[in-house]
Amino acid sequence: MERLPTVFIDRDGTINIESGYINHPVNFRLYPFAAQAIRILNEHGIQVVVVTNQAGVGRGYFDENHVNMLHTLMKEKLKSQGAHIDALYYCPHHSSSKDPKYSAECDCRKPSPGMVNKALAELPVDRERMFVIGDRKGDMKLAENTGACGIMVRTGYGEGELIKEKNIPAEVITDNLLTAVYEVLSRIEQD
Ligand SMILES: [Mg+2]
Ligand SMILES: [Zn+2]
Repeated sequence: MERLPTVFIDRDGTINIESGYINHPVNFRLYPFAAQAIRILNEHGIQVVVVTNQAGVGRGYFDENHVNMLHTLMKEKLKSQGAHIDALYYCPHHSSSKDPKYSAECDCRKPSPGMVNKALAELPVDRERMFVIGDRKGDMKLAENTGACGIMVRTGYGEGELIKEKNIPAEVITDNLLTAVYEVLSRIEQD
């Protein structure tokens, strides 16, 4: 089985406009460059895996059906622009949850590596060519924790975190998902 370079992409603030806990589909809006960015990865045979913390489930703001509905909507919006994601993992947990199903300490809430490990078990991922693109320090720590190249974007919380947070383990800092994808291509083509 051929192993593919793989980009793990955060959702909120990276693919879609950061809008807090998204409890209604009208608040789910792709960045205007998101589909193009993902389509470029598709065209280069690079695997696209979305990894997203959805603690709104654990916190009781919405349920998993809602999260799945938004993900169906996201895939449809991308598909209408010729882009597709190969897999998607989300973490519904949060330590504050009143529901024991969600309050248990998990290994999937970023920056824990659980979602990446699941992808490694289920998909043909080339471990030597893994990237994480996201807008938060936690995304870059996920990259650090999994041996991926961390690419931090300035959209979403990015600009603010770059000012406020110290020691963000990003290998690259760039404007947005599209410029991040160009970074990925340049690094893959160097090999
Ligand atoms: Mg984010
Ligand atoms: Zn989790």
